[in-house]
Amino acid sequence: MTSFNLSSLLRSELQEIKPYDTQKYPNVIRLDANENPFAFPKDILEKIKAQVHEHFFNRYPDPLASELVNMLADYTKVPSTGIMVGNGADEVILNLLLTFASGGRVIITPPTFSMYKIHSLIAGATPVEIPRHPDFTVNVSAINEAAAHFDTRLILLCSPNNPTGNAIPPASIRSILEKSAALVVVDEAYIEFGGESCITLLNDYPNLVILRTFSKAFGLAGLRIGYLLSNPAVVQQLLRIKQPYNLNAFSQLAARVVLYHQAEFLAVVKKIIQGRKILSAELSNLPGVEVFPSVANFILFRTPFPATRLHRDLLEEGILIRDVSRQGLEKCLRVTVGKEEENEIFLTRLKLVLTRRGKCVRSKGGGS
Ligand SMILES: *Cc1c(COP(=O)(O)O)cnc(C)c1O
Repeated sequence: MTSFNLSSLLRSELQEIKPYDTQKYPNVIRLDANENPFAFPKDILEKIKAQVHEHFFNRYPDPLASELVNMLADYTKVPSTGIMVGNGADEVILNLLLTFASGGRVIITPPTFSMYKIHSLIAGATPVEIPRHPDFTVNVSAINEAAAHFDTRLILLCSPNNPTGNAIPPASIRSILEKSAALVVVDEAYIEFGGESCITLLNDYPNLVILRTFSKAFGLAGLRIGYLLSNPAVVQQLLRIKQPYNLNAFSQLAARVVLYHQAEFLAVVKKIIQGRKILSAELSNLPGVEVFPSVANFILFRTPFPATRLHRDLLEEGILIRDVSRQGLEKCLRVTVGKEEENEIFLTRLKLVLTRRGKCVRSKGGGS
């Protein structure tokens, strides 16, 4: 017998984190993860393939991804010294927290992206939750009050916000930047779909950090590419702790080719925005359904029924969306804007399950 006890080696705050997994449903319409629903363009895929050569495999990639960073400088008009890429925006968030927030406090504004809290705990930081108002706008005065605590290192804001779909007005972000001695991170994962970017504030505020990703508008969720825009001093600090080869050679190449063809992807973004308008309008027409305004590629809505049940009903009809009711959004679900035909099938099946639940409630006199 040894005294070995594995779970006693784990920091207590990590015990509450559940391993991330997504259920595999082979034959469903997937509108649950805010991915780009369109297949990657074949001609662009061919261009990527044509540039894959033997040395992609045996040699380490460029640790700074300089070619990609230079193209991002062109795309964002932010100097390349203020740009860093990562293995998805997720890794950039973790690196920010590890570098600046370990042992300190991090302000987050629920309901928002669930990874902020998890990454804060992993980094040994204390998440401080400042809930949004009932209309999902951020509580600027409460954030500023919490930010005044000497140990606040980072304020994590998401605009447009996942899962609510609304953006934070730049004036609110400016007010937070003005008063904060902490870094203010604005996650713009969905900025190509709407909302106003904070890029123009970078020159005025050395404490501003902007996060971006290729996973949503640019259709590269599978290749894990995210990046950060900030004042160069922030990048300098982050580079100390970044894993040397965090972005693999293939992903660097694919991101470059996609940026070269950005017009094509931004045209698809327009199509998705159009789809969002139609889907929002049609959802609003369903009796009992409340739709929240969205400037992202997904829509949050509330029905009269428990979200967990509706989620399961839809799954049985071959539609996978996201149940967000456990994030303080009672009876709410989030649907990603898909292709036109996917949106139509989703609406038809949603009508079906809502009608069925409605009848069920009436015949049983409530509940179900
Ligand atoms: C999807 C998403 C990300 C993750 O982006 P990756 O680059 O795929 O890691 C970051 N922030 C928000 C708010 C997201 O919804």
